Amino acid sequence: LHMLKPVLVTGASSGIGEAIAVHLAHKGFTVFAAARRLKALDALTGLGGGRIHALALDVTDAASIEQAISAIAQQTDQPLFGLVNCAGVSVTGPVESVPLEEWKRQYETNVFGLVGVTQAVLPQMREAGMGRIVNIGSVAGRIAAPFFGPYASSKHAVEGISDSLRRELAPKGLQVSLVRPGFINTHFGDQEHESLQPYLAEGEPYAGDVATFAKWHERGHPNAVAPSEVAESVHHALTAQKPHSRYTVPSSYLPSLAIRNLMPSAITDRIFGKITGVKPNP
Ligand code: NDP
Repeated sequence: LHMLKPVLVTGASSGIGEAIAVHLAHKGFTVFAAARRLKALDALTGLGGGRIHALALDVTDAASIEQAISAIAQQTDQPLFGLVNCAGVSVTGPVESVPLEEWKRQYETNVFGLVGVTQAVLPQMREAGMGRIVNIGSVAGRIAAPFFGPYASSKHAVEGISDSLRRELAPKGLQVSLVRPGFINTHFGDQEHESLQPYLAEGEPYAGDVATFAKWHERGHPNAVAPSEVAESVHHALTAQKPHSRYTVPSSYLPSLAIRNLMPSAITDRIFGKITGVKPNP
């Protein structure tokens, strides 16, 4: 049924996006695997039964989005069936200290980039009366750790955008799912760690707490699950007769999300302090 349906996966040059591209191609989709680093996408060609097409795409650049969409149209005569918005970066650090330019860089990719690609793809899906959009959010889209303000708030935005979009597109016969990974074993954690470094320097007002938090965070990624688990949820979202609105991967994060949703902040703050070691001044 899903043989050769074209799907665009952004952020496919590494980690979760790469795993999604390979998994979907193995399952029979025609995959347009997009990222800025075309060279890094070379690793994918030849995999997935030759059904992966590498595509240069910078989601923060309107011209690049337009070029990618027309490149896809030249390679297939079908409208895009699926869009997987996976491209993302993580800007971390204290809300007070992260320069506004860095905040903007965070939103340019994770929020406006996602909206830009979605806007570019939707006309053909609407016209076809068929199509699915899968946004890669994060558990951080619901639970905002200290020193994760830019990243967590960008993923909170993705939660809201996904809800609005899902309700707008349901009457048009299109489905929207949000896949929320927790710690996943990719290079993403290293990047987050690196982005905390400037705030550890002597004289930085949050240095002590950032160091405590970074130690907790460091323990997370090595114990994380493989990106292929996220890919399986994306495949479900693209193929199930009734795709879920939300997938949480791994499902071991569901209790934390339930606590977050049900408990007053006074309690979740205390739990957070216990887990990360970043505690209020008594
Ligand atoms: P990676 O850093 O391995 O992958 C990020 C991908 O995004 C790369 O392919 C990168 O490609 C691409 N990308 C970044 N900026 C742009 C841009 N401007 N235009 C196009 N592509 C871009 O991290 P992950 O695979 O771990 O992360 C993928 C997604 O999963 C992100 O949205 C992240 O927030 C989310 N996530 C990850 C978690 C984790 O623990 N790993 C947890 C929760 C969510 P290139 O540089 O070539 O452009």
